[in-house]
Amino acid sequence: MSVIYDRVALVGLGLIAGSMSLAMRENGLAGEVVGYARSADTRRIAQEIGLVDRVADDLAEAVAGADLVVLAVPVGAMGAIAAQIAPHLKPGAVVTDVGSVKQAVVEAVAPHIPQDVHFIPGHPLAGTEHSGPRSGFATLFVNRWWLLTPDEGADPEQVARLTRLIRGMGASVEIMDAARHDLVLAVTSHTPHLIAYTMVGVADHLKRVTQSEVVKYSAAGFRDFTRIAASDPVMWRDVFLQNKEAVLDILGRFAEELFVLQRAIRMEDGEHLQEYFTRTRAIRRGIIEAGQDTAAPDFGRSSAAEKPLAPPEE
Ligand code: NAP
Repeated sequence: MSVIYDRVALVGLGLIAGSMSLAMRENGLAGEVVGYARSADTRRIAQEIGLVDRVADDLAEAVAGADLVVLAVPVGAMGAIAAQIAPHLKPGAVVTDVGSVKQAVVEAVAPHIPQDVHFIPGHPLAGTEHSGPRSGFATLFVNRWWLLTPDEGADPEQVARLTRLIRGMGASVEIMDAARHDLVLAVTSHTPHLIAYTMVGVADHLKRVTQSEVVKYSAAGFRDFTRIAASDPVMWRDVFLQNKEAVLDILGRFAEELFVLQRAIRMEDGEHLQEYFTRTRAIRRGIIEAGQDTAAPDFGRSSAAEKPLAPPEE
């Protein structure tokens, strides 16, 4: 594949930025990948494992001369970073982000972006419960969606160029309105994470069982909750604080459904339960048919992380 940006600067060197660096370098998409993280420890590890072509010692140095700057830090930190890098951005550069929430990021970042710089917000729908500079891998984005939420005035050529880079990493791109993104993600990702955190919290409160039986028999379903609930606490704190309205909306609906099921159990309404579970099973089938997971047991995790499921859609 050919080089799409001569120099890419990654701000933050965790799971997403690390995976981007590995994917861009493996596919020859960037002339040079420069990386910066706030802690000396992360910068040292990135240097040691050769995560990027060059590790910068400060933010200004990282973004200087970059054609593409990627903000890959928790969403609550994006605004402050944008303010710091603004004076050092190259005219004509593109700034994007990978934050899991879009409206709040746009509100925090856009005011700092200079007139002659393009801001194209984005969100790869790919991740694992791991974080930090050692957690990235080049195939993370293969056959995954990557949503872009440019505003109406965005330069179509720049959106197309960023799209080419993302496709080069194996993902499929879709353009979406930021508010719609936040609602969709509240349903598909944010609220499920909150439910997983809650379920693991419930088990933790029952300390007596947590110590023994819960761990021993976790394969009965609880294990999948614990995997999600092991996700980075800072990232997820920020997601809920920054996508508050949409998550509260979906949580309200969730609570209503839960009460209906609770009542069905109390009333021994097996017909209702079976009909409900039949519908939810069909949703799972739809996800498999859409190539977003495999039907393999174990939630298809091991195979999904290592190899693409199907070629990405254009
Ligand atoms: P990560 O592995 O935890 O890495 C986060 C990076 O941000 C680290 O380099 C960290 O620096 C830096 N950082 C943390 N707090 C900061 C602060 N207050 N100021 C400046 N830098 C800070 O996280 P990640 O999973 O790559 O997530 C990065 C972004 O991608 C987040 O916005 C998240 O919402 C989004 N995202 C995540 C996933 C996922 O599943 N993980 C999926 C899609 C999108 P130090 O190492 O020096 O502390």
